Amino acid sequence: MRSDLVVIGGGPAGMAAAATALAGGLRVTLLDSGRTLGGQYWRHPAPGSVPTGDHLHHDLTTYRALVDVLDAHRVAGTLDLLLSHHVWTAVADEDGFAVHVLDRSGTAGSEVAEVIRGRQLVIATGAFDRQLPFPGWDLPGVFTAGGLQALLKGNGVAAGSRVVVAGTGPFLLPVATAVADSGARVLAVCEANSPTRWGRRVGAVVRSPAKAIEGAGYAVALARHRIPVRTSTVVVAAHGQARLEAVTLAAVDGVGRVRPGTERRVVVDALGVGWGFVPQLDLAITLGCRLLEWVDGNHVAEVDAGQRSSVAGVLVAGELTGIGGAALALREGQLAGESVLADAGRPPATAPARLVQVRREVERLRAFARAMAEAHPVPQAWTTWVQDDTVACRCEEVPAGRVRAAVAAGASDARQVKQLTRAGMGWCQGRMCGYAATCLAHEGPDGPGDRRPVDGGPTAYAPVERLVATPIPLGALAAAEFEAKGNSAM
Ligand SMILES: Cc1cc2nc3c(=O)[nH]c(=O)nc-3n(C[C@H](O)[C@H](O)[C@H](O)COP(=O)(O)OP(=O)(O)OC[C@H]3O[C@@H](n4cnc5c(N)ncnc54)[C@H](O)[C@@H]3O)c2cc1C
Repeated sequence: MRSDLVVIGGGPAGMAAAATALAGGLRVTLLDSGRTLGGQYWRHPAPGSVPTGDHLHHDLTTYRALVDVLDAHRVAGTLDLLLSHHVWTAVADEDGFAVHVLDRSGTAGSEVAEVIRGRQLVIATGAFDRQLPFPGWDLPGVFTAGGLQALLKGNGVAAGSRVVVAGTGPFLLPVATAVADSGARVLAVCEANSPTRWGRRVGAVVRSPAKAIEGAGYAVALARHRIPVRTSTVVVAAHGQARLEAVTLAAVDGVGRVRPGTERRVVVDALGVGWGFVPQLDLAITLGCRLLEWVDGNHVAEVDAGQRSSVAGVLVAGELTGIGGAALALREGQLAGESVLADAGRPPATAPARLVQVRREVERLRAFARAMAEAHPVPQAWTTWVQDDTVACRCEEVPAGRVRAAVAAGASDARQVKQLTRAGMGWCQGRMCGYAATCLAHEGPDGPGDRRPVDGGPTAYAPVERLVATPIPLGALAAAEFEAKGNSAM
């Protein structure tokens, strides 16, 4: 059976896109690799697990309204909701798209490969944490900031009892307050950048008062928990034998060079580090969607005002078009749903006046997202914190010194570094180390912190094509092929 629309990703963007297309009378399949709807923002424990509590969430009214709408359509038979289904690739076929999924809803080892077909496709696969290596970052007890948050929301688990949250960007604030709400002591939020960077961008804040109010709410929560926010401060090393025991904090200058004499050791048992997010573009790249460089050092999918990508029939919404948060993702999803309806010759599901308002809100929220990215860049000199024996690629256990040796031997980008060192060739396929390897490859003649300009703009990292977006057991593939051929080998 071919749906009118297949939506990949059940976060805010995907839920809104599906709900809009369903409201307009289309038949929709909504796929997510998780066991519940909500994506990263509204991550919930798997059904049957102990609830983690509403206090960890924002805007649950919208979430519940969307869940109710989707559930009503599922019961009515107009929505196929396929959770625990991981899309490993998607290709255009004669009448739309064939989406190749792995059904992981059963026990380990019983995965089933299937093909879901749809006339149009919305890709809303979100983002993952951007990571930077530093000495000790591979010790147990060191998490990404998103990882700390996901543990709390998905499992109700606080990663430690003495915690430091570090990196850059407003996302550190909800993580720190959520960890403190769970009973752990948050010793500091270390923000690498100076708040003065917002000085030239107050216009974007004034135009997004809801964001300013949200920020003020976190300031109150941090004060209530007595959590100090240390600006222009980074974690330069994590220490411990079998697991994390302490971190070294240091003050940095405007480009991220450590100010000598400011290093301070703090005893902790958990660290969350967040350097922003990287859009999960694998499927969009495989389908041939054109990408753009964005201000935060990422590539993002190019879309028109209706979220249409450069590939006919493929729409993209949420973090893939530029990291901008859940409010923007929701509205982009709604616009994508409306474009799907328009392209299917259907009338809009949203009232015209509201649609104009949503478009304006998207513009405003994108402007805020741009200001946020400019105010919270990854410090240019971050590679000065990396020692030669610091592991750069965790999957293939490649130390930074080997990457630097490859660069000295002539490697000029992450691809050549990969060929010479295997950095980026492992299980994660460069998702974790790709950005770092590229930055290391562009250290200038004066060594760490001296960044050579990258051809074509400020972005250091161009994502690579990964034809298989998630590992898939060969047995499941073989069984699907056998089925497709009508068991002809029997
Ligand atoms: C770990 C993490 C934690 C975060 N926590 C917060 C937070 O607490 N507060 C906040 O304001 N922002 C948070 N964010 C930022 C957040 O991603 C966005 O604000 C918002 O959730 C974006 O919505 P989205 O729909 O674009 O993507 P997401 O919410 O990320 O939804 C994408 C969905 O796509 C699914 N997916 C991805 N790839 C596939 C695939 N191949 N096959 C099937 N399904 C797939 C994922 O399972 C996910 O459910 C977090 C981000 C991350 C990475």
